[in-house]
Amino acid sequence: MVNKKQSDLVKKIVSLCKRRGIVFQNSEIYGGLAGFYDYGPIGSLTKYNLKNLWWKTFVLDRSDVVGIDGTIITHPQVWHASGHVKNFNDQLAECKKCHHRFRTDFITDNKCPDCGGPLTEGRTYNILFETSIGVVEGEKTKAYLRGEACQNIYLNFKNVADSTRIKVPFGIAQIGKAFRNEVNPKNFLYRVREFEQWDIEYFVHPDQMDKWYEYWKQTKLNWYQSLVNNSKKIRLRQHTQDELVFYAKKAFDVEYQAPWGWSEWEGIHWRADYDLSQHSKFSHQDLSYTDPITHQKYIPHIVETSGGVDRTFFYLLLDAYQEEQLDNGQTRTYLKLDPRISAYKICVIPLASNKEKLVNQAKQIYQQLQKRYSVDWDDSSNIGKKYRRQDEIGTPWCLVVDYQSLEDQTVTIRNRDDMSQIRIDQNKVDQWLTKQLQKN
Ligand code: ATP
Repeated sequence: MVNKKQSDLVKKIVSLCKRRGIVFQNSEIYGGLAGFYDYGPIGSLTKYNLKNLWWKTFVLDRSDVVGIDGTIITHPQVWHASGHVKNFNDQLAECKKCHHRFRTDFITDNKCPDCGGPLTEGRTYNILFETSIGVVEGEKTKAYLRGEACQNIYLNFKNVADSTRIKVPFGIAQIGKAFRNEVNPKNFLYRVREFEQWDIEYFVHPDQMDKWYEYWKQTKLNWYQSLVNNSKKIRLRQHTQDELVFYAKKAFDVEYQAPWGWSEWEGIHWRADYDLSQHSKFSHQDLSYTDPITHQKYIPHIVETSGGVDRTFFYLLLDAYQEEQLDNGQTRTYLKLDPRISAYKICVIPLASNKEKLVNQAKQIYQQLQKRYSVDWDDSSNIGKKYRRQDEIGTPWCLVVDYQSLEDQTVTIRNRDDMSQIRIDQNKVDQWLTKQLQKN
């Protein structure tokens, strides 16, 4: 059960996101659209940093993974071959008392999670979004917005293998949108209808599946743990036998202990040769691979890691949100985000906005740092309000140019997490910041 304190946390984050330009309800002026959210100036920067970090870690820093960027609409046959047209279903039941709707697979005792009332029999709905290609009525082709981003990777396996010099074992990575007509979008960014996924499909020789499966399971767990303050809230959960699809020898989810309970973060899937074989069958194309050394011909098996970017974003907010009682009785709210992910690395502040000399000196520092980092500038209201704003968007450091700075070219740097301050030479800030960011 979700207790009040825990659900209050979600509410506080939703309100903070709106107040500080992190995430907005989509189409808010029209009353909003359930399951759709827009990222504001701070949120889009933060999300961009998050995706960049993922791409750097799993593509740029590795020689065995390459990236692609596929389309949202693909040949409709893709979704028949993948099984989505037939099986991408959710069971929906309605509470007879309060008329709220729920996915039945998350409910164990046929009682409404909101009011305890009895539920109707579950009905099955396909959650692929439909669209059509072509403009002439009667000649339009039914198509689908991709229900999972990874299909483009299977479709391009042969293109990638033939056009690069990469050899099995290798991976193809992609970050991109997916669409699901979820019957019950809920918990802010946790379950939405339009979202981004980050996937790696790692192609291996069938004999090597166990080794690579274990490798990716551990690598992904470690990576997610490296992003949070409280790594005890992350675990691996093995799927039970009856959760397993027929071709999977095993399956694990990386899970997060969210306020509403342990919830999926990323799936580590044993896909075997299912996807390439299905597409081979439906397209009548040979998607096998010939080993350049042994000349053995086979369909590679796949270890898939598939996670949600928006879900990660939300879990990181849940992990980062901090409230602290100050001596003056006020509460300080701050986001203890990994500095690599924070929208801004530092905010440059002149102590008084009406003192030209202070503003000019601060501007110079700002423009210098801006060449290398994402930096904010704030010469608005009083210093306390400036710190509060930067704390709430997770900026790890604030740099203040004060009267002493005019004398000796030193500045203060204030730390977000413990509010400690140091004074350093303004010409050494760049170097200092690089060092801090490398520490993380
Ligand atoms: P769930 O059981 O939570 O619906 P799933 O098993 O259907 O997830 P996958 O198909 O494995 O999810 O998708 C991979 C990842 O994509 C998930 O681990 C999750 O992070 C993300 N994801 C899936 N559906 C949604 C959604 N509706 N909103 C946001 N993220 C999602």
